[in-house]
Parts: sequence; C-alpha cells; structure tokens
Amino acid sequence: MYLPKLIPFGMLLSQEHDTNKSANDLVRRAPDAVPRGYIIEHCTVPGVVALTFDDGPYTFTNHVLDLLDQYNAKATFFINGDNWSRHIDRKSTPWPETLRRMVGSGHQVGSHTWSHADLTAADSATRRREMYLLEKALVKVLGRYPTYFRPPYATCSPQCLAEVEQMGYHVINFDVDPKDYLYNQPWTVDEAMRRFSQAVDAGQPGSSFLVLSHDVQEQTAKTLTPFMLQKIHEHGYRAVTVGECLGDPPENWRFADDIPDWGDESDKDTTTWFGSWLGSGYGPVDKYVQTVLDHRPF
Ligand SMILES: [Zn+2]
Repeated sequence: MYLPKLIPFGMLLSQEHDTNKSANDLVRRAPDAVPRGYIIEHCTVPGVVALTFDDGPYTFTNHVLDLLDQYNAKATFFINGDNWSRHIDRKSTPWPETLRRMVGSGHQVGSHTWSHADLTAADSATRRREMYLLEKALVKVLGRYPTYFRPPYATCSPQCLAEVEQMGYHVINFDVDPKDYLYNQPWTVDEAMRRFSQAVDAGQPGSSFLVLSHDVQEQTAKTLTPFMLQKIHEHGYRAVTVGECLGDPPENWRFADDIPDWGDESDKDTTTWFGSWLGSGYGPVDKYVQTVLDHRPF
C-alpha cells in the first residue's frame, strides 16, 4: 500500500507557530501528515501494536481500561452512539464517565458511526446522519469529535471514502483480526488468542500491528485483552493508539466543537432526541446535519 511520506512533527509545530492557527486549521492545512481518502490498514511507526476496540462503550469497557492502565498501555476505542449501549451522552448512564476516562487516560476515541451502519450500502444523507449524530453525542460528553473513523463491517466504498474525507476523517481498518466476535465463548476464545499470537509471533524487529477487537465481548475483555497485553509486553512492543502508530500527535486526533449550540434540544441526550423525531421522518435531523454542513469550513 502507498503511504505518502509523513510530515515531520517539528514542521507541523512550526506551521502552527508561524501562523498562530488552531489544531483544526493545522490538520486541514497538512492533510498528508496522515492521509485521508483511502483505507489505512497498517501502522507506519515501527515496534508498536495499536489495539483497537470497536462497538462500545459497554459493560466490559471499564475492565479493558483497568487492564490497559495495569500495562501502562494506550489503545483506541471506535465508539457507537446507539449499538450495544444507548444514551451514551445521558448523565444518568455510566457511559459519559467511561468515555471521559478513555480520554483522561490518554487513549484515543474514534468514530464507528451512530448505529453501526454499513456506510457502503448507505446513501449520502444516511452517511451524514450516522457520522454527525455520533459527533453530536461525543461533543456533548467530551467537547470534541474525532478525526479517525473505523467503518462498520470494514467496508467503505469510494463514494463513502470521498464523503468521510470531506468530513475530515481518516479511515482505519486493521492488519490483524483475531475474529474475537466469532470466538467469544470461554471454550472458543483460545482461537482468537491463537490468531493474535500467529500474527505477532511472526513479526520481525521493527514490525508493527493494527489489531481489531471488540470491548463489547466479555471474553475479549476478560481473556483476550490481558493475553494480548502480556504478549505485547513479552515481545518488547509498545501498545499505542492508532494516531501514535501513524506518527500523528494527539492534538490531531479530534476537532474542538465548532458547532453552534442547539438551544432547547441540547438538554436531551442524542438517542432520545433522534428517536423522538423518527416518527415524523428525518426532517429535523437533517436540519441539524445542514447546520453542521453550513458551519464547517470544509
Ligand atoms: Zn463494529
């Protein structure tokens, strides 16, 4: 796969210094630091393993976070707004605290769409709803929205790629798939562990890996994750975020919120807000999407 040469971090910093622009502008002005517009499957930094956890947050996520702390490891969580958990931006649920813990511990939060939609099969309007609704929820909880995206079902057509590029996203797949979603029973998780080992044991000095897994799976949290972390430690790799494994500094992993306040609607969580409109069609949702589009400089 072709990867454009990375722009040295120092050069990025000097651009920021010279122009006194925000991190947002920096990302937009240096789009080839990490490429957009096609699917990234490999890390570019040697000697690292980027563990990724999709489909959460969920009941087991805090256990995964405990394990990552224990190993002083960093990872990336590709979040859904309405999948295994709902109301991720409602105060009375555990999810806002879990999401803040991720960021507070130095992990990366990325998008996995609002409802785990297949963005290849979706039309343009659906793609925008799926991306912007999750952004809305994450902005409410974290004050920021991500610049990294993992497509559900690992599929993003050329049209999908072009559209999420326009929204400012890097598209991330993986080069190691333990298939933990298939081998998620106490008596089958061995196979997921074997698949991870097979990949990592075959590494050469300076190899790096981008690993798919799912924190919504109990066996992933309880068995596979500690196994992967121990193996990474034994091999002398560093467990890092996707951004770090691509040489991208943390300020480039998210955009600050630059979307106008919603007025009264902002008091509701996004799941409730979205659901309340569904009976009457997408009109109000698409009105919000249009607000986002009008406000974005790109
Ligand atoms: Zn998924």
